[in-house]
Amino acid sequence: MPIATKIAGHIAKSSWIRKMFEEGEQLRQVHGADNVFDFTIGNPDTEPPAQFQQEFLELAHRPITGMHRYMSNAGYQETRAAVAEVLAEAAGFPVGAEHVIMTCGAGGALNVVLKTILNPGEEVIILAPYFVEYKFYIDNHGGVPKEVWTDRTTFQLDIAAIEAAITRKTRAIIICSPNNPTGVIYPAASLDELGAMLARKEQELDRQIYVISDEPYARIVYDGKEVPNIFRHVRSSIIVTSHSKDLALPGERIGYLAANPRAHKVEQFMEGAIFSNRVLGFVNAPALMQRLVAKLQRASVDIDLYRQKRDLLYDNLTAMGFEMVKPDGAFYLFPKSPLADDIEFVKLAQQHLILLVPGAGFGAPGYFRIAYCVDKGMIERSLPAWRELARAAGL
Ligand code: PLP
Repeated sequence: MPIATKIAGHIAKSSWIRKMFEEGEQLRQVHGADNVFDFTIGNPDTEPPAQFQQEFLELAHRPITGMHRYMSNAGYQETRAAVAEVLAEAAGFPVGAEHVIMTCGAGGALNVVLKTILNPGEEVIILAPYFVEYKFYIDNHGGVPKEVWTDRTTFQLDIAAIEAAITRKTRAIIICSPNNPTGVIYPAASLDELGAMLARKEQELDRQIYVISDEPYARIVYDGKEVPNIFRHVRSSIIVTSHSKDLALPGERIGYLAANPRAHKVEQFMEGAIFSNRVLGFVNAPALMQRLVAKLQRASVDIDLYRQKRDLLYDNLTAMGFEMVKPDGAFYLFPKSPLADDIEFVKLAQQHLILLVPGAGFGAPGYFRIAYCVDKGMIERSLPAWRELARAAGL
Protein backbone atom coordinates (compact mmCIF):
# COMPACT_ATOMS: atom_id res chain seq x y z
CA MET A 1 0.00 0.00 0.00
CA PRO A 2 1.42 3.43 -0.89
CA ILE A 3 0.17 4.97 2.34
CA ALA A 4 0.28 3.98 6.02
CA THR A 5 -2.31 1.40 7.02
CA LYS A 6 -3.42 3.68 9.84
CA ILE A 7 -4.11 6.61 7.50
CA ALA A 8 -5.98 4.35 5.10
CA GLY A 9 -8.10 3.19 8.06
CA HIS A 10 -8.78 6.79 9.15
CA ILE A 11 -9.81 7.76 5.63
CA ALA A 12 -12.15 4.76 5.42
CA LYS A 13 -13.74 5.68 8.76
CA SER A 14 -14.38 9.28 7.76
CA SER A 15 -15.15 8.54 4.10
CA TRP A 16 -18.92 9.09 4.38
CA ILE A 17 -18.29 12.81 5.01
CA ARG A 18 -16.41 12.93 1.71
CA LYS A 19 -19.10 10.80 0.09
CA MET A 20 -21.79 13.26 1.20
CA PHE A 21 -19.77 16.14 -0.15
CA GLU A 22 -19.40 14.39 -3.52
CA GLU A 23 -23.09 13.49 -3.61
CA GLY A 24 -23.91 17.13 -2.85
CA GLU A 25 -21.79 18.19 -5.82
CA GLN A 26 -23.71 15.76 -8.03
CA LEU A 27 -27.04 17.08 -6.76
CA ARG A 28 -25.94 20.64 -7.53
CA GLN A 29 -25.05 19.66 -11.08
CA VAL A 30 -28.42 17.98 -11.64
CA HIS A 31 -30.73 20.42 -9.82
CA GLY A 32 -28.72 23.69 -9.95
CA ALA A 33 -26.82 25.17 -6.98
CA ASP A 34 -29.79 27.35 -5.94
CA ASN A 35 -32.05 24.36 -5.44
CA VAL A 36 -29.72 22.34 -3.20
CA PHE A 37 -29.71 23.33 0.48
CA ASP A 38 -26.27 22.58 1.84
CA PHE A 39 -26.03 22.77 5.65
CA THR A 40 -22.95 20.57 5.97
CA ILE A 41 -19.92 22.78 6.40
CA GLY A 42 -18.91 25.26 9.10
CA ASN A 43 -17.41 27.67 6.59
CA PRO A 44 -18.69 31.21 7.39
CA ASP A 45 -20.55 32.84 4.50
CA THR A 46 -19.78 36.33 5.81
CA GLU A 47 -16.84 38.55 4.94
CA PRO A 48 -14.36 39.75 7.61
CA PRO A 49 -15.29 43.01 9.40
CA ALA A 50 -14.68 46.29 7.52
CA GLN A 51 -11.87 47.14 9.95
CA PHE A 52 -9.96 44.08 8.77
CA GLN A 53 -10.13 45.26 5.15
CA GLN A 54 -8.98 48.76 6.18
CA GLU A 55 -5.98 47.47 8.14
CA PHE A 56 -5.17 45.10 5.30
CA LEU A 57 -5.13 47.91 2.71
CA GLU A 58 -3.17 50.17 5.06
CA LEU A 59 -0.46 47.52 5.41
CA ALA A 60 -0.44 46.83 1.67
CA HIS A 61 0.05 50.54 0.94
CA ARG A 62 2.68 51.06 3.64
CA PRO A 63 4.69 47.86 3.81
CA ILE A 64 7.03 47.47 6.78
CA THR A 65 10.57 46.38 6.01
CA GLY A 66 11.03 42.72 6.95
CA MET A 67 7.31 42.07 7.38
CA HIS A 68 7.50 38.76 5.51
CA ARG A 69 10.46 37.34 7.43
CA TYR A 70 10.51 34.64 10.11
CA MET A 71 9.97 35.90 13.61
CA SER A 72 10.17 34.27 17.04
CA ASN A 73 8.36 30.88 16.90
CA ALA A 74 5.80 32.13 19.41
CA GLY A 75 4.85 35.08 17.19
CA TYR A 76 5.21 38.87 17.26
CA GLN A 77 5.50 40.31 20.73
CA GLU A 78 2.94 43.05 19.95
CA THR A 79 0.35 40.51 18.74
CA ARG A 80 0.84 38.27 21.75
CA ALA A 81 0.55 41.33 24.03
CA ALA A 82 -2.69 42.44 22.31
CA VAL A 83 -4.19 38.97 22.83
CA ALA A 84 -2.99 38.83 26.44
CA GLU A 85 -4.54 42.23 27.24
CA VAL A 86 -8.04 41.04 26.30
CA LEU A 87 -7.55 37.70 28.06
CA ALA A 88 -6.41 39.44 31.25
CA GLU A 89 -9.60 41.52 31.28
CA ALA A 90 -11.71 38.39 30.95
CA ALA A 91 -9.71 36.45 33.54
CA GLY A 92 -9.61 39.30 36.04
CA PHE A 93 -5.90 38.76 36.73
CA PRO A 94 -2.67 39.39 34.79
CA VAL A 95 -2.05 37.37 31.64
CA GLY A 96 1.14 38.31 29.78
CA ALA A 97 2.42 38.01 26.23
CA GLU A 98 4.63 35.21 27.58
CA HIS A 99 1.48 33.10 28.10
CA VAL A 100 0.38 33.37 24.45
CA ILE A 101 1.63 31.64 21.29
CA MET A 102 0.24 32.59 17.88
CA THR A 103 -0.71 29.47 15.89
CA CYS A 104 -1.99 28.24 12.55
CA GLY A 105 -5.64 28.25 13.62
CA ALA A 106 -7.27 26.40 16.49
CA GLY A 107 -6.49 23.12 14.73
CA GLY A 108 -2.79 24.03 14.79
CA ALA A 109 -3.05 25.10 18.44
CA LEU A 110 -4.70 21.81 19.45
CA ASN A 111 -1.92 19.85 17.77
CA VAL A 112 0.76 21.96 19.44
CA VAL A 113 -0.80 21.45 22.89
CA LEU A 114 -1.33 17.70 22.45
CA LYS A 115 2.21 17.18 21.16
CA THR A 116 3.56 19.13 24.12
CA ILE A 117 1.73 17.27 26.90
CA LEU A 118 1.16 13.67 25.73
CA ASN A 119 3.34 10.68 26.49
CA PRO A 120 2.56 7.62 24.33
CA GLY A 121 -0.65 5.89 25.43
CA GLU A 122 -1.90 8.72 27.62
CA GLU A 123 -5.61 9.41 27.51
CA VAL A 124 -7.51 12.50 26.47
CA ILE A 125 -11.19 12.71 27.39
CA ILE A 126 -13.45 14.07 24.67
CA LEU A 127 -17.09 14.90 25.29
CA ALA A 128 -19.73 13.51 22.94
CA PRO A 129 -21.02 15.02 20.74
CA TYR A 130 -17.52 16.22 19.73
CA PHE A 131 -15.69 17.85 16.83
CA VAL A 132 -14.55 14.78 14.95
CA GLU A 133 -10.98 15.97 14.28
CA TYR A 134 -10.16 15.68 18.01
CA LYS A 135 -9.74 11.92 17.62
CA PHE A 136 -7.28 12.29 14.77
CA TYR A 137 -5.37 15.08 16.51
CA ILE A 138 -5.00 12.96 19.66
CA ASP A 139 -3.83 10.02 17.58
CA ASN A 140 -1.28 12.29 15.83
CA HIS A 141 0.60 12.52 19.12
CA GLY A 142 0.34 8.95 20.38
CA GLY A 143 -2.60 9.63 22.69
CA VAL A 144 -5.77 7.65 23.19
CA PRO A 145 -9.17 9.39 22.97
CA LYS A 146 -11.67 8.45 25.64
CA GLU A 147 -15.29 9.37 24.94
CA VAL A 148 -17.60 10.59 27.68
CA TRP A 149 -21.16 11.71 26.98
CA THR A 150 -22.48 15.09 28.00
CA ASP A 151 -26.04 15.13 29.37
CA ARG A 152 -28.11 13.66 26.55
CA THR A 153 -30.96 16.14 26.95
CA THR A 154 -29.13 19.39 27.66
CA PHE A 155 -25.64 18.60 26.27
CA GLN A 156 -24.22 20.14 29.45
CA LEU A 157 -21.17 18.73 31.27
CA ASP A 158 -21.73 15.51 33.19
CA ILE A 159 -19.07 15.99 35.86
CA ALA A 160 -19.68 12.60 37.50
CA ALA A 161 -19.23 10.82 34.15
CA ILE A 162 -16.00 12.74 33.48
CA GLU A 163 -14.71 11.88 36.94
CA ALA A 164 -15.53 8.20 36.42
CA ALA A 165 -13.51 8.20 33.18
CA ILE A 166 -10.33 9.61 34.74
CA THR A 167 -7.50 7.11 35.18
CA ARG A 168 -3.78 7.22 35.98
CA LYS A 169 -3.24 7.75 32.27
CA THR A 170 -5.54 10.76 31.84
CA ARG A 171 -3.60 13.78 30.67
CA ALA A 172 -6.29 16.15 29.43
CA ILE A 173 -9.95 16.85 28.74
CA ILE A 174 -10.98 18.81 25.68
CA ILE A 175 -14.03 21.00 26.11
CA CYS A 176 -15.61 23.23 23.48
CA SER A 177 -17.90 26.12 24.46
CA PRO A 178 -19.88 27.40 22.61
CA ASN A 179 -19.99 23.90 21.30
CA ASN A 180 -19.64 22.48 17.84
CA PRO A 181 -22.04 20.74 17.12
CA THR A 182 -24.60 21.56 19.88
CA GLY A 183 -24.18 25.34 20.33
CA VAL A 184 -24.39 25.10 24.15
CA ILE A 185 -22.28 27.24 26.48
CA TYR A 186 -21.02 25.72 29.74
CA PRO A 187 -21.97 28.07 32.59
CA ALA A 188 -19.49 29.30 35.20
CA ALA A 189 -20.98 27.09 37.96
CA SER A 190 -20.41 23.97 35.88
CA LEU A 191 -16.82 24.99 35.07
CA ASP A 192 -16.24 25.64 38.78
CA GLU A 193 -17.42 22.14 39.54
CA LEU A 194 -15.14 20.75 36.83
CA GLY A 195 -12.18 22.72 38.21
CA ALA A 196 -12.79 21.52 41.77
CA MET A 197 -13.17 17.90 40.71
CA LEU A 198 -9.98 18.04 38.63
CA ALA A 199 -7.97 19.69 41.41
CA ARG A 200 -9.03 16.82 43.67
CA LYS A 201 -8.11 14.23 41.04
CA GLU A 202 -4.76 15.87 40.34
CA GLN A 203 -3.88 15.54 44.01
CA GLU A 204 -5.18 12.02 44.32
CA LEU A 205 -3.31 10.79 41.22
CA ASP A 206 -0.33 13.12 41.65
CA ARG A 207 -0.40 14.24 38.02
CA GLN A 208 -1.41 17.31 36.10
CA ILE A 209 -4.67 17.00 34.14
CA TYR A 210 -5.27 19.83 31.70
CA VAL A 211 -8.51 21.26 30.46
CA ILE A 212 -7.95 22.26 26.84
CA SER A 213 -10.68 24.79 26.13
CA ASP A 214 -11.36 24.93 22.38
CA GLU A 215 -13.06 28.29 21.86
CA PRO A 216 -13.18 29.38 18.21
CA TYR A 217 -16.86 30.38 18.70
CA ALA A 218 -16.34 32.35 21.94
CA ARG A 219 -17.43 35.66 20.36
CA ILE A 220 -20.38 34.12 18.51
CA VAL A 221 -22.92 34.19 21.35
CA TYR A 222 -26.54 35.33 21.52
CA ASP A 223 -29.13 36.90 23.81
CA GLY A 224 -26.52 38.63 26.00
CA LYS A 225 -24.89 35.32 27.00
CA GLU A 226 -21.18 35.21 27.79
CA VAL A 227 -18.58 32.48 27.66
CA PRO A 228 -16.92 32.28 31.09
CA ASN A 229 -13.14 32.62 30.99
CA ILE A 230 -11.76 29.15 31.75
CA PHE A 231 -8.72 30.55 33.60
CA ARG A 232 -11.05 31.73 36.38
CA HIS A 233 -12.45 28.25 36.94
CA VAL A 234 -9.79 25.65 36.13
CA ARG A 235 -6.20 26.09 37.15
CA SER A 236 -4.57 23.64 34.72
CA SER A 237 -6.21 25.21 31.69
CA ILE A 238 -5.17 26.13 28.18
CA ILE A 239 -7.24 28.11 25.70
CA VAL A 240 -6.99 27.18 22.03
CA THR A 241 -8.81 29.36 19.55
CA SER A 242 -8.69 31.13 16.22
CA HIS A 243 -10.13 33.91 14.14
CA SER A 244 -11.59 31.44 11.63
CA LYS A 245 -15.13 32.13 12.81
CA ASP A 246 -15.24 35.42 14.75
CA LEU A 247 -13.36 37.35 12.04
CA ALA A 248 -14.39 34.96 9.22
CA LEU A 249 -10.77 34.16 8.31
CA PRO A 250 -10.67 30.34 8.19
CA GLY A 251 -8.49 30.21 5.09
CA GLU A 252 -5.86 32.46 6.67
CA ARG A 253 -4.94 29.97 9.43
CA ILE A 254 -4.57 32.41 12.30
CA GLY A 255 -5.25 31.60 15.94
CA TYR A 256 -3.51 31.26 19.26
CA LEU A 257 -3.06 29.21 22.38
CA ALA A 258 -2.86 30.72 25.85
CA ALA A 259 -1.89 28.99 29.07
CA ASN A 260 -3.34 29.87 32.45
CA PRO A 261 -0.62 31.92 34.21
CA ARG A 262 -1.67 30.12 37.43
CA ALA A 263 -1.07 26.62 36.04
CA HIS A 264 1.63 24.51 37.68
CA LYS A 265 5.01 25.12 35.95
CA VAL A 266 3.43 27.17 33.19
CA GLU A 267 6.85 28.36 31.95
CA GLN A 268 7.83 24.80 31.19
CA PHE A 269 4.58 24.23 29.30
CA MET A 270 5.17 27.38 27.23
CA GLU A 271 8.74 26.38 26.42
CA GLY A 272 7.46 22.96 25.28
CA ALA A 273 4.65 24.46 23.22
CA ILE A 274 6.95 26.93 21.44
CA PHE A 275 9.22 24.00 20.56
CA SER A 276 6.24 21.94 19.32
CA ASN A 277 4.99 24.82 17.15
CA ARG A 278 8.43 24.83 15.53
CA VAL A 279 8.96 21.12 15.01
CA LEU A 280 5.44 20.39 13.81
CA GLY A 281 6.61 22.48 10.88
CA PHE A 282 4.26 25.39 11.54
CA VAL A 283 7.42 27.40 12.51
CA ASN A 284 5.26 30.45 13.22
CA ALA A 285 1.74 31.66 12.49
CA PRO A 286 1.35 33.67 9.24
CA ALA A 287 3.17 36.99 9.66
CA LEU A 288 0.73 39.23 7.78
CA MET A 289 -2.27 37.88 9.69
CA GLN A 290 -0.52 38.33 13.04
CA ARG A 291 -0.06 42.04 12.28
CA LEU A 292 -3.71 42.42 11.30
CA VAL A 293 -5.39 40.49 14.10
CA ALA A 294 -3.31 42.35 16.69
CA LYS A 295 -5.56 45.33 15.89
CA LEU A 296 -8.79 43.32 15.85
CA GLN A 297 -8.86 41.65 19.25
CA ARG A 298 -12.11 43.41 20.14
CA ALA A 299 -13.77 43.07 16.73
CA SER A 300 -16.02 40.42 15.25
CA VAL A 301 -18.34 39.77 12.34
CA ASP A 302 -21.97 40.85 12.76
CA ILE A 303 -23.21 38.32 15.32
CA ASP A 304 -26.82 39.43 14.91
CA LEU A 305 -26.88 37.98 11.39
CA TYR A 306 -26.10 34.57 12.85
CA ARG A 307 -28.75 35.05 15.54
CA GLN A 308 -31.36 35.81 12.87
CA LYS A 309 -30.44 32.59 11.04
CA ARG A 310 -30.56 30.58 14.26
CA ASP A 311 -34.02 31.96 15.06
CA LEU A 312 -35.32 31.41 11.55
CA LEU A 313 -34.33 27.75 11.58
CA TYR A 314 -35.05 27.04 15.24
CA ASP A 315 -38.54 28.59 15.15
CA ASN A 316 -39.55 26.92 11.90
CA LEU A 317 -38.06 23.50 12.61
CA THR A 318 -39.46 23.22 16.12
CA ALA A 319 -42.89 24.22 14.73
CA MET A 320 -42.54 21.32 12.27
CA GLY A 321 -41.91 18.94 15.17
CA PHE A 322 -38.11 18.66 15.22
CA GLU A 323 -36.69 18.55 18.75
CA MET A 324 -33.50 20.37 19.67
CA VAL A 325 -31.72 22.41 22.33
CA LYS A 326 -31.84 26.13 21.47
CA PRO A 327 -28.18 27.07 20.98
CA ASP A 328 -26.66 29.98 22.90
CA GLY A 329 -23.73 30.34 20.52
CA ALA A 330 -21.72 29.07 17.52
CA PHE A 331 -23.64 28.49 14.28
CA TYR A 332 -24.94 24.96 14.52
CA LEU A 333 -28.17 23.21 15.48
CA PHE A 334 -28.08 19.60 16.64
CA PRO A 335 -31.64 18.20 16.52
CA LYS A 336 -32.75 14.69 17.35
CA SER A 337 -33.09 12.52 14.28
CA PRO A 338 -36.78 11.69 13.73
CA LEU A 339 -35.63 8.28 12.43
CA ALA A 340 -33.76 6.02 14.83
CA ASP A 341 -30.94 5.74 12.29
CA ASP A 342 -29.50 9.21 11.70
CA ILE A 343 -27.67 8.09 8.55
CA GLU A 344 -30.98 6.94 7.07
CA PHE A 345 -32.49 10.30 8.00
CA VAL A 346 -29.65 12.20 6.31
CA LYS A 347 -30.19 10.09 3.17
CA LEU A 348 -33.90 10.91 3.30
CA ALA A 349 -33.02 14.61 3.63
CA GLN A 350 -30.83 14.32 0.54
CA GLN A 351 -33.88 13.18 -1.43
CA HIS A 352 -35.41 16.55 -0.47
CA LEU A 353 -32.15 18.24 -1.55
CA ILE A 354 -31.22 19.11 2.03
CA LEU A 355 -27.62 18.22 2.93
CA LEU A 356 -26.87 17.50 6.60
CA VAL A 357 -24.24 15.70 8.68
CA PRO A 358 -25.38 12.68 10.71
CA GLY A 359 -24.73 12.71 14.46
CA ALA A 360 -22.61 9.58 14.00
CA GLY A 361 -19.94 11.92 12.63
CA PHE A 362 -19.75 13.56 16.08
CA GLY A 363 -19.80 10.35 18.12
CA ALA A 364 -23.54 10.93 18.66
CA PRO A 365 -25.80 8.67 16.61
CA GLY A 366 -29.48 9.59 16.77
CA TYR A 367 -28.94 13.29 16.00
CA PHE A 368 -27.99 15.39 12.99
CA ARG A 369 -26.13 18.67 12.53
CA ILE A 370 -27.23 21.76 10.67
CA ALA A 371 -24.54 24.39 9.97
CA TYR A 372 -26.41 27.67 9.51
CA CYS A 373 -23.42 29.85 8.56
CA VAL A 374 -25.05 30.03 5.14
CA ASP A 375 -26.97 32.58 3.11
CA LYS A 376 -30.20 33.60 4.82
CA GLY A 377 -32.02 33.46 1.48
CA MET A 378 -31.03 29.82 1.14
CA ILE A 379 -32.47 29.08 4.58
CA GLU A 380 -35.74 30.76 3.59
CA ARG A 381 -35.88 28.90 0.27
CA SER A 382 -35.20 25.60 2.06
CA LEU A 383 -38.22 25.80 4.39
CA PRO A 384 -40.75 24.10 2.06
CA ALA A 385 -38.25 21.25 1.56
CA TRP A 386 -37.88 20.97 5.36
CA ARG A 387 -41.67 20.73 5.68
CA GLU A 388 -41.79 17.88 3.17
CA LEU A 389 -38.88 16.19 4.92
CA ALA A 390 -40.62 16.45 8.30
CA ARG A 391 -43.73 14.81 6.83
CA ALA A 392 -41.69 12.10 5.12
CA ALA A 393 -39.93 11.36 8.43
CA GLY A 394 -43.30 10.97 10.19
CA LEU A 395 -43.33 14.20 12.23
N1 PLP B 1 -12.43 23.37 16.94
C1 PLP B 1 -13.71 23.38 16.57
C2 PLP B 1 -14.75 23.03 17.58
C3 PLP B 1 -14.08 23.72 15.26
O1 PLP B 1 -15.39 23.73 14.94
C4 PLP B 1 -13.07 24.03 14.33
C5 PLP B 1 -13.41 24.33 12.94
O2 PLP B 1 -14.50 24.17 12.46
C6 PLP B 1 -11.74 24.00 14.77
C7 PLP B 1 -11.46 23.67 16.08
C8 PLP B 1 -10.61 24.31 13.86
O3 PLP B 1 -10.64 25.64 13.49
P1 PLP B 1 -9.44 26.37 12.80
O4 PLP B 1 -9.93 26.81 11.46
O5 PLP B 1 -9.15 27.53 13.65
O6 PLP B 1 -8.29 25.43 12.73
